[in-house]
Amino acid sequence: MGPHQANPSKPVLLVALGGNALIRKGQRGSIDEQFENLQLPMRQIAGLLPEYRIIITHGNGPQVGNLLLQQECCSEVPRLPLEILVAQTQGQIGYMIETTLDNQLMQLGSNGQQLFVTLLSYVVVDEKDPGFQNPSKPIGPAFSQETAAGLPYPTRRTARGYRRVVASPKPVTIVEKREIKKLIELGFLVIACGGGGIPVIRDSRSFQGVDAVIDKDLSSARLAIEVGVEIFVIATDVPGVALSYDQPGQQFLRRLTVAEAARYREQGEFPPGSMDPKIEAVMDFLQHGGARAVICSVEQIDRAVKGEAGTEFFVQ
Ligand code: ADP
Ligand code: MG
Repeated sequence: MGPHQANPSKPVLLVALGGNALIRKGQRGSIDEQFENLQLPMRQIAGLLPEYRIIITHGNGPQVGNLLLQQECCSEVPRLPLEILVAQTQGQIGYMIETTLDNQLMQLGSNGQQLFVTLLSYVVVDEKDPGFQNPSKPIGPAFSQETAAGLPYPTRRTARGYRRVVASPKPVTIVEKREIKKLIELGFLVIACGGGGIPVIRDSRSFQGVDAVIDKDLSSARLAIEVGVEIFVIATDVPGVALSYDQPGQQFLRRLTVAEAARYREQGEFPPGSMDPKIEAVMDFLQHGGARAVICSVEQIDRAVKGEAGTEFFVQ
């Protein structure tokens, strides 16, 4: 059996890539910048493929916010709701990930045997979710406080500056979980749940899209649990979880127990919409039978999988 063929004994690894790692702090998000930012994470994922079956999920905060702004700049065409824009980002980022990964595999001398698929993914949310009343998910570019105050939509202060916030209900279940599991068993590398998934509410047997953006960390944890992933890696634009983040005395942690994480969470160490959903995702995964979970930087996915970098979480 070749290294890139289905091998049920290889552990399943889910790598959740931050949308903010594709458009770095201070960048405007040109397509060249985004392709460049993907090189390093994809090189590492290519290097991990002989040993792991891999699912890639990704965020879309900057990208979906940019699409929203782009269409608001033009009054000639009808506005599209967020679930349509999320679907667009699954296509655009899935395409960028596939081509970059394919190039990296070629550079590693892979014989082109690895099968890929980018799957449009729906994620069910609850129509009564309080997230609909209280926009919390930062999207699009960062503004100065002054500019933000004059904008016709809600914004919130983040580590990047003031950003637009939109409704972000919690994911309940991944609609395509069985398909993803089957594809992994067949040896495909699967790119799924992009941008947290297309948010839908279940209407008896059909689904209806809703105007929101689900946090990709929470959807990734749901997918990891529902598919039975062994290792869950959340790759972002910082080396891991810090205490006193961006303040004097900032300290990055190498390990955290679920109980410690819960305590720091209560103490307000993790802001909503950025680090808090990552912590919640990891806790959800570990409390539902997940074996290993790490939060690391996109530069250190490989080392984090080996247990040499990032913040690793333990049940106790
Ligand atoms: P992603 O697109 O990867 O999900 P986010 O912006 O949502 O990125 O989350 C990562 C960000 O969380 C970091 O860039 C950092 O600014 C912020 N952050 C907030 N609190 C912490 C913390 N305690 N430790 C590390 N990073 C933190
Ligand atoms: Mg995020």
